[in-house]
Amino acid sequence: MSDDYVKKAAEYMKMGATMLSELCPICKLPLFKLGEDVLCLNCGRKIILVKEDQEAIAAKTPLILTDIEESLIAKILEVRRKLMLAEDLDDVKKAGDVLNTLLEALSTIRKLRKS
Ligand SMILES: [Zn+2]
Repeated sequence: MSDDYVKKAAEYMKMGATMLSELCPICKLPLFKLGEDVLCLNCGRKIILVKEDQEAIAAKTPLILTDIEESLIAKILEVRRKLMLAEDLDDVKKAGDVLNTLLEALSTIRKLRKS
């Protein structure tokens, strides 16, 4: 890390830049964020991080959807049991409404997983 680099970093910090935990893929020095731009002060170029973030999110999404689907199915089975035991019509209606909402959510999740 040269004196020049430190001077430059100090200048950017004064301009309102913040140091990020991400490192420059080329020189492995910390990146700086100034406004919407992410820069490496050592290489003097803009670095695009957004793509990696979106890929990371996309990689996690199916797992999250599977998790939600499993919770929904567990809840549906629970409500179904309540519905079978319910004798009061009000209770039947309540359980039926909840079941409807859960089934709609499940169908939305399944559509999302297919897309
Ligand atoms: Zn760099």
